[in-house]
This record gives sequence, C-alpha cells and structure tokens, in this order.
Amino acid sequence: MDKKAFYDLSYGVYLCSSWDKGRPVGCVANSAVQITSDPATVAVSLNHDNYTNQCVKDTGYFAVAILGEDADPLLIGKFGFYSSKDKDKFADVPYAVRGKLPVVDGCLSWISCKVVSSMETSTHTVFLGEVIDAGVLNKGTPMTYAYYHKELKGRTSPKAPTYQQEETDGKYVCKICGYVYAGETPFGSLPADWVCPVCGAPKSQFEKR
Ligand code: FE
Repeated sequence: MDKKAFYDLSYGVYLCSSWDKGRPVGCVANSAVQITSDPATVAVSLNHDNYTNQCVKDTGYFAVAILGEDADPLLIGKFGFYSSKDKDKFADVPYAVRGKLPVVDGCLSWISCKVVSSMETSTHTVFLGEVIDAGVLNKGTPMTYAYYHKELKGRTSPKAPTYQQEETDGKYVCKICGYVYAGETPFGSLPADWVCPVCGAPKSQFEKR
C-alpha cells in the first residue's frame, strides 16, 4: 500500500473545541467535513486519546474553528501537541463563546454543532453534528493540511489520522511535537531562548535521535 496516496486527499487545519465542566478545551483536527446542507451537518474525527473527544461525548457539543494560512503556528502547536487534560490551552489565547462554544478569535470562521450521531473506529470517534450556529470572523485563505506541511514545515501529531512516521536519525527532534530541526545553524549553537517553531517548547525539550 502506497500511503502517499493519502496526501492527495484534501484536509484543512481546524481547532475542534468543547467544554470540560465549564472549562474550554480543544485540539487540532484535520479531518472535518460538511456532510449535508439541509439540515446542515458536519463530521469531525477525533482520536480516542484526545481529551476533547471525551468532552464532546460528555457535553454533546463541539465547534470547528477554521484556521487561515496566516494563523499563528504556535496556536497550532499549542492545540495540536499538548493535552487539554493538563494544560489550559485557552489561558492566554483570545477567544469568545460563540454558538454556545469556545472559539478562538484568530480563526477565519467557526461552526458550532450539536452531536446527533457518532461512530467508533479502532482509534478515532467520528462525530456527526447538526449545525446550531456559524459565523465568519476574519477574511483570508483557509489553511490546507498541505500548506501547513509545505509552507510552515508543520509536523503531525501521532494522534492525527494523517500521521506517518518519518526519518529522524541523527537529528534533533522536539519531544513535544515531533518537529525535526533542520536549520543551518548547528543545534547546539542556537540561542538559549530559542523555542520550537511549531509548539513553543524550549531547547531542553529536544533530543538527538
Ligand atoms: Fe515542538
């Protein structure tokens, strides 16, 4: 099986959010799609290991925030490579409650949904949500997953449905997000306050593979 075929599917970069007993939670999702238009429904796929998955099950609600190409990469790092279980991802991120759900101000648009059905796979839950509200916050070009990889050199969380292992021998790899350092400056010569461009982790979180 040539898994490169999957690269020809189109994905976006979304933040899927919900509530954990009144606390906003969320994670990056790249598999979200509108399924029907009347009534409008949206499906999103979340890994069982994502804390947000359980919160969507508990509350029965989720929002999908669509990120633009100019979205802050650290926003993706924060929501994509940490867990809402032990980190308040919304702590220093501007957001508002829109359509009953927490939505970051830095997205292009958002769609909030009430779960009407779900399906379990071996690793992910596919939630089907009926849209209860939606809005456009900013103008811009929606970020595709391909853009994230090619232009931002973005990494993929092992929890993502699109994750594939890559060669890392002899390279410095971020233990949080898997970012592989490939800059011209030797890793040891980078300034002490240098941080991972994807998730914001300090140098100490990198290890040589
Ligand atoms: Fe990182």
